[in-house]
Amino acid sequence: MTDNFFTGNADLLEVFDKAIPWSTVVRALSGSDGGAGETVATWREVLDLAGRYIATEIAPRAAKVDEIGVIRDNGTVRMNEPMTANLTGLAELGLASPSIPEEHGGSALPFTVAMMLAEMLARADLATQVQHGIGWNSPAALLLRFGSEQQKAHYLPRLAKGEIMGAVAMTEPQAGSDVGRLLTTATPQSDGCYLLRGRKQFISAGQGEFVIVLARAPGSGGLDGLGLFLAEREGDNYVVERAEHKFTIRGSPTCALVFENTRAAPLGTPGEGWKQILTFMNESRLGVGIQGIGVATAAYEKAMEYAAQRVQMGHPIREHPMVADMLLEMRTTVSGARALAYEAAVLQDRVMFGKDKEAARDLRELTPLVKWYGTEGAVRVCRLALQIHGGVGVVDEYDVGRYMRDSLITPVYEGTSQIQSLMAVKDQLKWAMQRPRSLVGGGPSRLLAGASFAGRLGSDFAAARGEVVGMLRDVVGRLVRTRGVGLLRGGAELSEEETGPVLLHAERITEALAHLHVARALAERAKIVPERRALAERAARTARLVAERNRRAIALDDGSVFVQIQEWRRERN
Ligand SMILES: Cc1cc2nc3c(=O)[nH]c(=O)nc-3n(C[C@H](O)[C@H](O)[C@H](O)COP(=O)(O)OP(=O)(O)OC[C@H]3O[C@@H](n4cnc5c(N)ncnc54)[C@H](O)[C@@H]3O)c2cc1C
Repeated sequence: MTDNFFTGNADLLEVFDKAIPWSTVVRALSGSDGGAGETVATWREVLDLAGRYIATEIAPRAAKVDEIGVIRDNGTVRMNEPMTANLTGLAELGLASPSIPEEHGGSALPFTVAMMLAEMLARADLATQVQHGIGWNSPAALLLRFGSEQQKAHYLPRLAKGEIMGAVAMTEPQAGSDVGRLLTTATPQSDGCYLLRGRKQFISAGQGEFVIVLARAPGSGGLDGLGLFLAEREGDNYVVERAEHKFTIRGSPTCALVFENTRAAPLGTPGEGWKQILTFMNESRLGVGIQGIGVATAAYEKAMEYAAQRVQMGHPIREHPMVADMLLEMRTTVSGARALAYEAAVLQDRVMFGKDKEAARDLRELTPLVKWYGTEGAVRVCRLALQIHGGVGVVDEYDVGRYMRDSLITPVYEGTSQIQSLMAVKDQLKWAMQRPRSLVGGGPSRLLAGASFAGRLGSDFAAARGEVVGMLRDVVGRLVRTRGVGLLRGGAELSEEETGPVLLHAERITEALAHLHVARALAERAKIVPERRALAERAARTARLVAERNRRAIALDDGSVFVQIQEWRRERN
């Protein structure tokens, strides 16, 4: 096992040294790329330092963090001691909330670098990374965007030092994927503050000193009338009712919060909560995709070590072809997810700091795919790591069971895989209907349509892209046959019956799209690092197989899902 999760991770290092267009990031942050070399060298040093601390201090404490879980003591909820030690150590390195600008006491790291830190932390211990990400980074990101100067001055320096921890509370018992169902209200008072009433559920780091709450104006409905409100816990202003007992990220308190006339200050303009939370969700979804990469890296490294030393039938098991194939699949998934995720992270820096409109459309396309592929890929990689470990895989000392358990939360929170699929496919369809001619060419995605590679890699990529465009063409064709070509001029509202077949297959289309983008990202890297060609070829072949299989599955759809839904509807009525 390496003693540095940055310099000891050849793939991550390659991304940093060869793949990231750093001058673009520096320009987005500071308006010019003067002095970029020095700035980037400093970021590299920060990651080197962090990588050593995370590998040598945090990773060895991960099993203990998991074993102890959350401390529930006399009605209070706390983090356990090894986790507190992890976070204290990060704060001492100046990495509590590393994206906070220097004028507020932070290290002013760009999103791309902060995500590399997050990846290394997730590799060491996902529970600690969640507390770091949700408890420190997320509230800081919201305060930076929407806070008043007074709020920024009050909270950011303390978040930067790790002196206080916050949380972000959207989910309620009846409102998960469907945010519009949330019931918590925020009632304005004559002194400018608001009174919150309601309950929040599954709030990571909810044990902290304050929480940013998504709540609605009394009498409002759906996504209208929502706003963000900041409530301090001091003086039992709200109640941490409990922390859930759970099998995943066991050290991270996932809390139920109760607000009964809780005094809160608005963050930004009440009524704009949905818009506000959407801007934030983009970066947090990329963050969860990157969590998946961290956990998958840990599982892959363990599986590689084990498969090299475990001998069965005269050979180390990695020399048995099926095991070797699993290891190659894991490597392709981890490197592919990483290549795509950091491409998106750079776009996020361009959009967030550089207000770059061209980058915004590409970012919108990649975000749900990074979340989908990074997290579903993590589950797959952990499953394979368990399999490669045989019987010892289920024994606690071997860690892979923890990786498996931790990986399973990632496709659920910050928008489930199904919700990511709906987002990805609805956008592809919208763009395809705006430019129907793209469906007889390279498709509506600028990134995919413009990509071209030589040799076998190029032909597999083109074939996979052809299948994905074919899926979109089939779906749009079906809609046009029922609604006429007027549909293509846009603006038409589609009924549930019309969109049903599209939504049924959204995850199949998303899976193929994600594999295709991963192949593209790895193939672009192979242009810079020729040794990467074999990996890129494997990714392109996989993309082709997935796309062919999924298109076939859509073509063979027999409508039985809708027959069943009708039956359940009849039962309900
Ligand atoms: C450990 C943990 C930490 C969390 N941290 C936070 C936090 O810090 N802050 C916060 O606000 N929330 C947090 N959450 C909540 C999390 O974001 C939600 O659990 C998640 O969004 C899913 O909502 P739900 O659990 O209500 O599931 P539901 O929305 O009820 O979904 C159940 C299933 O139905 C599927 N589904 C729902 N709608 C559709 C649809 N239209 N089409 C297809 N499938 C659909 C989903 O994909 C899922 O498979 C956390 C949750 C957990 C478990």
